[in-house]
Amino acid sequence: MRTHAVNADPPFKAAIIGGSLGGLAAAIELKDGLGAAVSVYERSSGTMQARGAGVVMQPELDELLHRIGVEKRSVCVQLEERVALQQDGQTHRQRAPQLMTAWDALYKIMNAHLVDDCYRQDSELLSIDQSESFAAIAFADGYETNTDIVVGADGVNSTCRSLLTGIAEAARYTGYVAWRGLEDERDLPPQLVNTLSERFTSYMRPGMQMLCYLVPGADGSTVPGERRVNWVWYVNTHEAGLETLMTGESGTHYRSFLPPHDSSPEVRRAVVDLAQRDLPAPFRDLVEASNVFMQPVQDVDVQPRVHGRVFLIGDAAGTVRPHTASGTSKAFGDAALLAGALKGWRAGSPLPVDRLGSWEALRNAEMLSIAKRGRQLAAHSGLGLNAAA
Ligand SMILES: Cc1cc2nc3c(=O)[nH]c(=O)nc-3n(C[C@H](O)[C@H](O)[C@H](O)COP(=O)(O)OP(=O)(O)OC[C@H]3O[C@@H](n4cnc5c(N)ncnc54)[C@H](O)[C@@H]3O)c2cc1C
Repeated sequence: MRTHAVNADPPFKAAIIGGSLGGLAAAIELKDGLGAAVSVYERSSGTMQARGAGVVMQPELDELLHRIGVEKRSVCVQLEERVALQQDGQTHRQRAPQLMTAWDALYKIMNAHLVDDCYRQDSELLSIDQSESFAAIAFADGYETNTDIVVGADGVNSTCRSLLTGIAEAARYTGYVAWRGLEDERDLPPQLVNTLSERFTSYMRPGMQMLCYLVPGADGSTVPGERRVNWVWYVNTHEAGLETLMTGESGTHYRSFLPPHDSSPEVRRAVVDLAQRDLPAPFRDLVEASNVFMQPVQDVDVQPRVHGRVFLIGDAAGTVRPHTASGTSKAFGDAALLAGALKGWRAGSPLPVDRLGSWEALRNAEMLSIAKRGRQLAAHSGLGLNAAA
């Protein structure tokens, strides 16, 4: 699947900041679709952490996978029904076939599709200087380079965004967090896995909502016995307590992701106690058996995307609430349509500003509509600052 073909006469050079799913989608669209010479710069060193554990298969994901020759079912676990749990043990069932994949399954396939030397880790962007004809970018390790365009795919706390807009902290806490778990099914009691397999199981009460479904294993396997159980539990949580929750056992303070290996025994105990008190049986057991991690749910309002030679995509350009399961598909759509707007452009000629402006207007309108729907879904569950807890 790895494409080693490098265009001998690339129309332009693109530096992509952020090597998560949005950045990889942009790299593939610009390289495969337009023949551009792309370089991806990712801040993390070593293994990338899966921030968006489970991912719902959406049309934009399917389209990109199809273009790189991957059949969506090969990276998905098939669900057959939705099951709503109630505290008294009653359940409500509805047939609802759906395909579920995982952040790392997509990351591996997309990263493998790019050539080895265009993905550079341990590369934290520090500055961008634009001139008439190029952008100069500099990194924390001292590396500097010039490029024709920059794609800012550096997520919710985007450095690109803050450099371009001058606003250092655009992300606002929404009033609730997502406790999460992603466990190998073989590490959980078989009866629990059986209860949760092949279905999207949920539980909702004012101020909290929990969802669970199986996703491919860490190696991408979709074979029963080798998959993982993915769960998300949204809980209204006062901002005052967030600092403590986001401080790992190591003393590290995390901004937007508390990793499983560093959650303290006190935090773990508090989550398990809450689960024992407030969740129905299968979910209580699941939380207790999991290595819990956490993301505060944050809002970043829709942002200007076109800044001269720098274009923002994915969470860097604004977030949507996770309830619409569309953060990843939004980033993929941004990347595909950005490539469409740049089609036919060559470095040295004026940027197609009209097409880029239309891209910005279209993607921001789409984002506003998804964001509105996400806020409505949160409010319906009593989640967030303005919802009754
Ligand atoms: C609780 C929660 C649950 C979610 N669940 C889902 C889900 O089920 N399905 C779904 O589709 N989406 C989900 N999302 C959204 C999803 O995580 C993102 O919207 C999506 O993955 C797009 O991410 P991105 O590539 O834009 O940014 P990110 O995935 O955040 O990646 C940004 C990358 O940029 C790198 N970076 C940051 N700063 C720099 C810098 N200065 N220099 C270089 N690199 C840098 C980071 O290390 C990171 O790798 C969820 C989000 C949250 C908060």
